Amino acid sequence: MCKNMPPLELAIQFHGHICPGLLIGVRAAEFAQKHLDISQDYDEELLAVVETDSCGVDAIQAILGCTFGKGNLIFNDYGKNVYTIASRDKNQAVRIAQKYGATSFRESERFRELNRKQVLSEEEAAEKENLIGVLFEKIMTMPLEDLFTWEDVELKMPGKAQIHATRQCAVCGEGVMETRTRQTETGILCIPCYNKLGGEA
Ligand SMILES: [Zn+2]
Ligand SMILES: [Zn+2]
Repeated sequence: MCKNMPPLELAIQFHGHICPGLLIGVRAAEFAQKHLDISQDYDEELLAVVETDSCGVDAIQAILGCTFGKGNLIFNDYGKNVYTIASRDKNQAVRIAQKYGATSFRESERFRELNRKQVLSEEEAAEKENLIGVLFEKIMTMPLEDLFTWEDVELKMPGKAQIHATRQCAVCGEGVMETRTRQTETGILCIPCYNKLGGEA
């Protein structure tokens, strides 16, 4: 990822499209950067705990560098636009929650309506483009305190992600992380093979 790219562009490039959810994530990420006085994560100095798996999380990954692959993005499946960002160096964490109804604009509703459609007419496509422009302006210029509530929280940072040994599954022959193997009479199995054998080989 290019470090000199503006945060917004990083997020759009990573996410692939521009949408209200992504923009809310951009604002949360930028707020966290300012509040904690941090720059993009290089080697797990930062940790993000997210409570949604929707668009906004991609902004957190692209801007803060807390990613699924690095292991410093933790997903709690609560269906809430809440992002807790922690800095190992600063020993500080902030929990950022989107305010209920903060982006319930008339335009958001229409945008979602158009988004659900499989095929858009030329007119609708133009309308959708236009709506993105309107929502972009609203979300990106909205005072932070209208968009989010936040509080400093204590967050125990887990140890850095470990690299585990790889074992070979006795059935499919594929490599599998040691901590995900199942010890059976047939030998060491990966989880899918273990499940296929009824979980009691
Ligand atoms: Zn999106
Ligand atoms: Zn297997």
